[in-house]
Amino acid sequence: MKYQTNHRFRLERKGDDPHSLTKQKYTCPACGKKSLTRYIDTKTKTYLSEKCGRCDRLNNCAYHYTPREYFQDHPEEKEKYKNKEDVWRDKAVSHRWDWLGDEKGFDAVFDCIPKEIIPKAYLWGNSDSVFFLWLRSLFNTNAIEDSVAMRVLRDYALGATPDGRVLFYQIQDRRIRTAKIMDYDPSGHRRKVPSWLHNLPGIKEYYPGGFRLRQCLFGIHLLFKYPEKMVAVVEAEKTACVMAGFYPDTLWLATGGATVNLNADSLAPLKGRRVVFYPDASPEDKIYKDWQRRTALNMPTSTSYQVDDSLTGSKVSETDKEKGIDLVDIINYR
Ligand SMILES: [Zn+2]
Repeated sequence: MKYQTNHRFRLERKGDDPHSLTKQKYTCPACGKKSLTRYIDTKTKTYLSEKCGRCDRLNNCAYHYTPREYFQDHPEEKEKYKNKEDVWRDKAVSHRWDWLGDEKGFDAVFDCIPKEIIPKAYLWGNSDSVFFLWLRSLFNTNAIEDSVAMRVLRDYALGATPDGRVLFYQIQDRRIRTAKIMDYDPSGHRRKVPSWLHNLPGIKEYYPGGFRLRQCLFGIHLLFKYPEKMVAVVEAEKTACVMAGFYPDTLWLATGGATVNLNADSLAPLKGRRVVFYPDASPEDKIYKDWQRRTALNMPTSTSYQVDDSLTGSKVSETDKEKGIDLVDIINYR
């Protein structure tokens, strides 16, 4: 009988059981001696059927019942192991992270989303969103300019839903905090309110106690890729993507909202970088003043930063303040 192995099931080895120095031996169904090495499921770290194994008495018994034979004899069991739900439910739970910060108002633990439970089409690198088509049109459509759009797509890990909405992933420390799912029309205007990856049917079920969201700055995963670049923080993900296309010497991040991600937890990774904040225009410069206050409170020490005032005071009309224009509205890219 040939020794059989595959990726998921294999014979137990010394060390598979962390509580035992030797591998376990079980009663052989053929010779009755305690000489059977059993097959384990490497994903769930559990044994297959007690019949599944190889007798170590190779000369006298040589019993060997492989997982393949077992599943041929018990096709209903095969279905059970095909079901990845349980496996990934464990994985999802193991993606919970203790938060080591000390700021008040946060839970001590938050959830991250393992890549494996996200539908493939939703993952980054998918250029089939209306938003991305619009973005690409800004950078023109010839091949060389297209590479600008592709750089933005890859850098910012943009995804797309089958109905053409864009996914703005929030990734920090190589873990997916969530993604904001937004619907844009072909001229780059937002439609409907955003939804969230962690609320998607098929994903939210992994968090029966409710998903514990901890947002991070959009684009923050690029800090390590571009250690030399000056950092600019804007409000909208869209603005960060557009600016990244036209001003690639700066690393553009987005808070994802006027009052989001300006807490000590989200700003902590910026420590030691040169940072400029670009708040949107607002009546009476309220947002500008609010960002000044929040950054003064929450920016990490020994970090040089400023809050840009280009969209404040008499530099912007009252109408534009009412509209809440941002950098994209004032740069000349046509
Ligand atoms: Zn035996």
